[in-house]
Amino acid sequence: MINLILFGPPGSGKGTQAAYLVEKYNLVHISTGDLFRYEMGNDTPLGQQAKAYISKGELVPDEVTIGMLHNKVLAHPDAGGFIFDGFPRTILQAEALDRLLEEEGSVVHVLIALNVDDEEIVKRIKLRGATSGRADDLDENIIRNRIEVYKNETTPVYDYYDQQGKSHMVDGIGSIDDIFNRLCAIIDTVGDNAMLTAQEEKK
Ligand code: ADP
Repeated sequence: MINLILFGPPGSGKGTQAAYLVEKYNLVHISTGDLFRYEMGNDTPLGQQAKAYISKGELVPDEVTIGMLHNKVLAHPDAGGFIFDGFPRTILQAEALDRLLEEEGSVVHVLIALNVDDEEIVKRIKLRGATSGRADDLDENIIRNRIEVYKNETTPVYDYYDQQGKSHMVDGIGSIDDIFNRLCAIIDTVGDNAMLTAQEEKK
C-alpha cells in the first residue's frame, strides 16, 4: 500500500504522470481539479461554488475542498493506495489529509514534486487551453495568478512533508517516459522501505 502526493505547479504534468502511475502501481487517482470540473459540468451547487474561485485562478475554500476529498477517499475502502493530484494545496488541507489517513490506519508515504519553471508552465497551459476547453487555461493573467497562488499558498506543503522526511523533487522537464522513470525510481525505493518497516513491526 502506498499513498502518494503528486505535487508541483499547475501544468507541471501531474495528471499525465498520474495516469501512468495508476496503471503500474494499481492506485486510485484522486484529482481535486477533475472533481471540481465534474461538478461544474453538472452545474451542481458544489460546482457553482467552486466556479467562482476557479475562474479567477484562486483556490476553492479549504472546507469545501477537504469535504469533497474526504468523501472520495471514503468511497474507496478497498483501495491499494491513492495518488493525490492537486491536493493538498494548503497546510490546512495537508493536516486534514494526515488526520483522515490516520483514521483509516494509514499515512502519506511520499510526496514527489515535479519541478518546472514559470515560463515553461505558461507555455504548456496555453497550449493545453487550445484543446482543454478550460477557461482558466486561456487567459495569461489567470494562469500567472495560479502560479502565484501556488508559490504563496501551496509550496509550504512541500516543506510540511519535508519535515517528515517525505518530500522529493524531480526534474519535470523531459520526455513523459523519462519523467515517469524518475518518479518510479523514488516510489520503488519508498515502497521497499515501507515493506521492510511493516515486516519489522510484525516481528
Ligand atoms: P492545475 O494543476 O492546472 O491548476 P487543477 O485541475 O489541479 O489544475 O486545478 C484547477 C483549479 O481547481 C485550481 O486552480 C483551483 O482553483 C481548484 N482546485 C483544485 N484543487 C484544489 C485544492 N486542493 N484546493 C483548492 N482549490 C483547488
